[in-house]
Amino acid sequence: MGICPWCKRDQSEILGTKPDGVTLYKCQICGLIFQSGNKADKMHYTRDYYEKDFGNQEKQQIRYQLVQYITGGFKGISSVLDVGCGAGLFLEKVAKSCPKATGLDKSPWSVDICKAKGLEIYNEQLETFYPKEKYDLVTAWEVVEHIEDLRSFLNSVKKIMSDIGIFMLSTPNVSSYRAKKYGLEWKGFCWRHEHLCYFSAPVLECMLKEIFTENQVQFVEFDWRSEDTLVAIVKNNKETFSDKPQKALFVGRTNGLEVPGGDMVQLFNTKIAIEKRGFTVDVSLSALPALNFNYDVIHQFGLSHAEAVDQFFHLEDKCDHAVLSPIYWNPDETKRSTEEIAEIAKQSKNLSELKEILGLYGQGKVMIEGLRNYSYLYEKMREERHDLISKVKHFLPNSYAEMHELRRDFGLFRSAYTVVPNAVDVDLFLNADPSWFVREYGIKDFVLCAARLEPRKNQLMLLLAMQETALPCVIIGRSQVPEYAELCHRYAPSGTVFLDNIPQDLLASAYKAARVHALVSWSETTGLSSLEAALGGCSIVVSDRGPTWEYFGDMAYYCDPGNINSIRDAVLQAWENHFDERQASLRELIVKKYTWDKAAECTLQAYKKVTRSKTGSYVNDDRMYVIRAQERKTSLCLRLGDAKKIAIFGASLTGRECYESALEGGLEVKFFLDNSPARQGTSFLGLPVYSVDYIVRPGAEEVDAVILASAGYHEEMARQLIELGCRKPLVRP
Ligand SMILES: [Zn+2]
Repeated sequence: MGICPWCKRDQSEILGTKPDGVTLYKCQICGLIFQSGNKADKMHYTRDYYEKDFGNQEKQQIRYQLVQYITGGFKGISSVLDVGCGAGLFLEKVAKSCPKATGLDKSPWSVDICKAKGLEIYNEQLETFYPKEKYDLVTAWEVVEHIEDLRSFLNSVKKIMSDIGIFMLSTPNVSSYRAKKYGLEWKGFCWRHEHLCYFSAPVLECMLKEIFTENQVQFVEFDWRSEDTLVAIVKNNKETFSDKPQKALFVGRTNGLEVPGGDMVQLFNTKIAIEKRGFTVDVSLSALPALNFNYDVIHQFGLSHAEAVDQFFHLEDKCDHAVLSPIYWNPDETKRSTEEIAEIAKQSKNLSELKEILGLYGQGKVMIEGLRNYSYLYEKMREERHDLISKVKHFLPNSYAEMHELRRDFGLFRSAYTVVPNAVDVDLFLNADPSWFVREYGIKDFVLCAARLEPRKNQLMLLLAMQETALPCVIIGRSQVPEYAELCHRYAPSGTVFLDNIPQDLLASAYKAARVHALVSWSETTGLSSLEAALGGCSIVVSDRGPTWEYFGDMAYYCDPGNINSIRDAVLQAWENHFDERQASLRELIVKKYTWDKAAECTLQAYKKVTRSKTGSYVNDDRMYVIRAQERKTSLCLRLGDAKKIAIFGASLTGRECYESALEGGLEVKFFLDNSPARQGTSFLGLPVYSVDYIVRPGAEEVDAVILASAGYHEEMARQLIELGCRKPLVRP
């Protein structure tokens, strides 16, 4: 019998017979795949069933991580209902983040287990469960494929959701790459005969939209181990509904849920923030993302992970608007230095010898021969990334410096881009309470480093530098390289506290309890933890590599990551000057400029640009006047023609030179523009310094041209002005 359990019609075709002898049908009306004549039987759900794979902690962690991402860390969620909660492993985790956590399961065995754990659980089906209050989050992990009457199930979910409710469900993804490849032998089909139906994203979307009419329906797909999982999200928030919904697909690293990182924070927070502005975002963390819908924009996060190239090429010819947040920094120095430092640490006999050699290393006096040579693999990778980059329509780097790095390394000159500054969750970090962390670990006023424990983040050098101070240290972060973690433990000052990943709100409490945050990485595209820590009230020590200056200006303390003396001095300075005005001004700056809402605004600006132009290139380079340096003084004035009043972009040494030559040429300089937050609002050579967008603000002082005063960033500066809508002649001295 092939009667579809959704549309109740007998218009299905036989898809085939699985290896276990069960026949699968596909409804020709709604597309649902189902098996016939096999009712869900209580007998299947015994202890064996749960122990087989529901005891899998890692899977629960991934679900929990995903819920955290989607809800922005349980923001506004005060009650959770987990339907089909099994042994309560997910529910236990949720109960720690949420005041009310309820489970339902039809197996008496699971109910006993959950009760023993002190969880609130009912031996009920959702359809017959009548709670007093509605729930803000309803989850159904791997449940819908077991349900006989889907329509009644989904209607019950709808009834139980609060006005701001979110419903998240997961199910095997029948449109995944592997499902298509293995056909009837796909694991998703073969593992269980308890599964009554199977869903693809488009089929599930139709069903959900039929029940939850006005709501936004979104998807996340990911390949976890060999499981292909589809997560559907329904949001009950009417405010987010837009008349003209536009849809984007975000693509990220496949292990993004297992190994959290700044890229995932950026991906999911951008999703949350642009959805508030009416956009809808699906997420794929699959090696070959399924294109289930027509997306207006495909947005990839990161180009350095191994599968980035495959992901991108799989999608790029199917959507005209493929954009990339490169999250890139040239890895050469990081690779070399981290190997050298690890080698020195391994070969040193004791601490004093290690410090002596590293002291020389910091001065560039140590040569190490015979280190591993990656060149072949590495060159190959670079080549592949080059192909990817050449196809990108628009870049969304986190800083101008990052774009500059990308250009230099890949020889890009005409690519369009929009800088999207990275951001932090202001509320979480600004208003945290230090006492939780102090109570938990018995330590207050310390030097903190919150980052994955790995060579790139350079904790070993930090700890060695701290050996020479009496300051207490706390290192928070999951170890990625056991050998490196071992070295860090060995050379840490006695009393150093090492903590694995801790929940976000406890981390926020740690920032509040600390005095200095030191992130002395070899390379960073932002260094999110520095922003978070600064919000929490820490003075900030960062390495002088990467775009740190663009973010922190003179409100942070800088050090050379290869030099322990430099690191020590920066930390000591930050410690001693903690109570001067620098910390407070940095905090103010972050609250104003580095919010997810700002990031969303920039992201949508970029989408607008890329969807409007066919080629993705919108910069008219004719507007840029190029004057060779040796002719500087005279030509500058000649080329400006009848211009009288000018502005200078760059309140710097070059800016001063331009200023002087402009005065000599009889020009009137009205003001300076500068990207450094530290300089904005101050004055330079007696003239005001504004942020760059001043030039297009209504009521701005009138000028005839802008001089780009910089040692090598002219093109970026020009593009920045043009992107802002500045139509004045731009002059490059
Ligand atoms: Zn049907």
